[in-house]
This record gives sequence, C-alpha cells and structure tokens, in this order.
Amino acid sequence: MSQVDRRTLLKTGGALAAVALTSCSGNKPASAGPDSLTAAAGPDWNGFRKGLTGKLYRPGDAGYAGAHQVFNPRFDSIQPAGVVRISTVDDVRESILFARKNKLVCVPKGGGHSYVGGSTAGNGLVVDVGSARGISYANNVVTIGAGAKLYDVHAYLDKFGRSIPTGTCPTVGIAGLTLGGGMGIHTRTYGLTLDRVMSMQVVTADGVFRTVSPTQEPELFWALRGGGGGNLGIVTSFRLATIGAGKLGFFRLTWPEAKAAAVVRGWQRFAHEAPATAWGNLHIDAQSNGTLSIHILGVSTTGSAGAVAAQVESFVGSKATTRSITVKTHMEAVRYLGGGTTSPRTGFLAGSDVLRGPMDAGTINGLLGAVKAAARAKVPAAAILDPLGGQAAKEPGPGTAWPWRSALGVIQWYCGTAAHPTSAQVGAAQKFVTSGHHAVAKASAGGYVNYVEAGRSGNSYYGAKLGRLRAAKKKYDPTNFFRTPYTLG
Ligand SMILES: Cc1cc2nc3c(=O)[nH]c(=O)nc-3n(C[C@H](O)[C@H](O)[C@H](O)COP(=O)(O)OP(=O)(O)OC[C@H]3O[C@@H](n4cnc5c(N)ncnc54)[C@H](O)[C@@H]3O)c2cc1C
Repeated sequence: MSQVDRRTLLKTGGALAAVALTSCSGNKPASAGPDSLTAAAGPDWNGFRKGLTGKLYRPGDAGYAGAHQVFNPRFDSIQPAGVVRISTVDDVRESILFARKNKLVCVPKGGGHSYVGGSTAGNGLVVDVGSARGISYANNVVTIGAGAKLYDVHAYLDKFGRSIPTGTCPTVGIAGLTLGGGMGIHTRTYGLTLDRVMSMQVVTADGVFRTVSPTQEPELFWALRGGGGGNLGIVTSFRLATIGAGKLGFFRLTWPEAKAAAVVRGWQRFAHEAPATAWGNLHIDAQSNGTLSIHILGVSTTGSAGAVAAQVESFVGSKATTRSITVKTHMEAVRYLGGGTTSPRTGFLAGSDVLRGPMDAGTINGLLGAVKAAARAKVPAAAILDPLGGQAAKEPGPGTAWPWRSALGVIQWYCGTAAHPTSAQVGAAQKFVTSGHHAVAKASAGGYVNYVEAGRSGNSYYGAKLGRLRAAKKKYDPTNFFRTPYTLG
C-alpha cells in the first residue's frame, strides 16, 4: 500500500540504534511440551529476569507503559504479563521456554504495526525483537535483524545504491511485513518483500534455533514466506537479495467524483495490462462534506512517468483534472511515500479483499456506494486499491506460501479513528469495513494477511496454500504453542 496522503500525517517517533544479536549458545529442543511442564507455584519471573541478557518489563516496572505499546493506541488497554526486549538469540529461546513452562501465550513483536494488535497479548509474554536491528550488506545481499524498521533499512541500503521492495510506512517492522508479503511501489517490478528472501534465522516453538533456506528446513522456509507473522516461530534475522536504488518517476492524477466508476475501470485495466515497470494505486477517500475524492498515485521504475500517466488516462477514458509528474531519488521517494522518516502512533481500523479479477459494473457501484455511505455519515473512510501482477504474479524458485499470485490487486478498507475511540466510533469503522466486504464479495478471493482483521476466518488469508501451511504448522509447532485468535488453526 502506498499511502502518501495517509503518511503525510505520520511524522514523529524515535531514532533506531543498531544493536546486533549476539551468540546463540543453546540449540537443543525443549525436553518436553507445554503440557508436561507445569508451574505449580506460578511463574518465577525473577529467575526468568536474571537469566536474560535483555530486559524484562512487568506491570508496575518503570518503562512497562512504553514497552507494551504497539503502533495503534486502540490496543493500549491490552496488558501483557511481561515484555522481553531481547538482546540475544538466547533471550528468544529462554522466553519461549519460560512461556511454555508457564502456559503463557507468547507473541513476537517487531515493528508493532499489526492491524489487530497481534504483537501484544493480555496476560501473555511479548518477545520484542526491536533491538535486533543491525543491518549489513555485501555482494548484493542484505542481512537485516528482525527488529529493523523500514526507513532504517532503506537509509542503510541507499549508501550502497541498493534497496529492497517494501511497503511505505517508515516504522513498519521488516519482520511482520516480510512474513506476510510486503507490497509497495516495487511490487510489480521486483515482487513482494518475501520474494527476495534468501534465508532466515528463526527460533521455533521447541526452542531450537534454525537457519532456513531453500536447502535448510525447506518446508519451514516455504511456510514462513507468506504464512504471516506469529505463526511458526520467532524470526531473528533475514537475508534478502537487493535491487538497485534507481530514480523513480512519479505521477499523481485526480478526477472528479462523477468519473469514479470510470477511474475504477481504468485502474483495473492498468493493473491487468500495464508493464511490470509501472505501478499505481487508486485512492477513493470519503470527504467530510459527503463527497468522494479520487486519485491515482503511480510510479514508473524506469524513472519516466509521463507515458504511464497517459496510459492510465487512456484506460480511464478521460484526462485527469489535476496531473503532476515528478522524478525522485530513491530516498526522496522513501520519504515522500512515508510522509517523512518516522510515523506517530495512529488509531485506525482496517481490512482487505483480494481481487481475483476485474470487478463488474455492479460490484464497482457497490464499492463506491460503501465509501459514499461512509462519507455521508462523516466517517473518515477510504478504499485503497493496490495492483498486483508483474513480478508479483511469478512464484519465485522454490515456491512460497503467499497465495495470491494470480490476483489483480488488493483493496484495503481503511478507517481512521481516534487514538482511543469510543465504541460508537469503532462500530462505525467496522460497519464501513463490513460493507466493503459485502460490496465486493463476488470478486473477492480472500484477504491479505498483513491487513489481518478481527472476526474474519483465518482460512481466508491463505487460499489454496492453507492445507500445506497447516501441515508445516503441525510439524514445527505440534502443540500449537504460537496461538492467538489470529494464528493458523
Ligand atoms: C501505518 C501502516 C502502514 C502499512 N503499510 C504497508 C505497506 O505499505 N505494505 C504492506 O504490505 N503492508 C503494510 N502495512 C501492514 C504491515 O505489513 C503489517 O501490519 C505487518 O504485520 C507489520 O509488521 P510489524 O513487524 O510492524 O508488526 P508487529 O505487530 O510487530 O507484527 C505483526 C505480526 O507479526 C508477528 N511478528 C512480529 N515480529 C516477528 C518475528 N520476529 N518473527 C515472527 N513473527 C513476528 C507478530 O506477532 C504479529 O502477529 C502497514 C501497516 C501500517 C499500520
């Protein structure tokens, strides 16, 4: 999702220092599963704390309030029993074993941007890999600690004239983004973030530290790339094949509301027919005066966007009302799309539908009607349509668990809320997301797991890959240790 308009609001946050993971001394499986390890006297938190190199935050500890927060303040009321800010891989392993022994729900946390607060858990143990954010580069390959945030990855790689395809929000974590997909302006030219992964290091539910690649634990390597975060283990680092950080051509085209249906049709043709070097996402935004604002933000990875913009206009069948064409360096583009170098915490509720193909006229009307109804109700809603296709349609060599290779694109149903919204605000936002789902049900193949939402069947994120993913889960997490309402069943 490129969301320059949304991102321009997101301008605060903290700097990241590089803290590399140190050694992994233990590589033995836990001696028994969670059911045979009982905690008669309750968890020995002090003993656990002493065994960690990193820091444990418990309710009441100084720093707990910050340690348990995630990106969306809506989840502030969720109070984990402990948050471990890891320093070493051994901390990850110790945390898993402690959670198993004490029957605590255990959730990994990367950038904390999960749409459902999936990286926090009431009374559970959060394993925050945020300090594992070291990055190194050699021979066109980047190694990234699982705690790195997207802006830092781009700023680091830019020094070498390199990049990787990612999403746009500067504070999204590389971990959650990569494990669920990773869509952005380079998706059609270079594929998803997960398509560039060459190997990963991960600690599984048995406490074993593993390197996974096409030749090492290939089934886990397959499943982690698309299975979504929090399901199969705690990843501590990623190695990815980089791409060149070339100049990018940008275009931004707007049309009046009266052209909305034609713009959706034109965008669909664009997503289907445009060259892989062209990308453009369509924003249909509810305005507080009850109208819709419509624009397409596009990129040409050849650096020249004029011809692509003209192609979009020809598909729409009318010239845009406003039209801007610019060229940006890689880092200018990163900051433009991200609205700066960091993002403030933001309240929102969102969901998605993956389009299996073009929507017919009735479905397009339904989509527009859903946003229009929100606009009339003064709900700050948007439908954001991101194209797939191009390189994202091609399954990389050994295959991945990402199920949407043949899809046309992804609709995100996004609704801004107050930081701590009332139940009426949450209800209005949920109503919009639900109405969006209903409107496009005929064209929807499922949802994008990185836009996971409450109340939706986990099966709908995995399409035809679900069976094999469940088998991988059974193999690597036979006791369903990594279990939340959003994990694979
Ligand atoms: C403002 C915003 C902008 C976004 N923009 C884009 C975009 O442009 N493109 C796109 O594709 N997506 C985008 N997303 C969605 C984003 O990819 C997902 O929310 C992603 O899961 C966030 O990863 P995270 O590490 O920041 O979040 P977290 O909340 O930390 O993690 C997400 C999930 O992964 C698990 N997890 C975290 N770390 C690990 C780990 N080390 N090992 C295993 N599991 C782990 C968590 O338990 C959780 O279930 C955006 C989200 C937001 C909020």
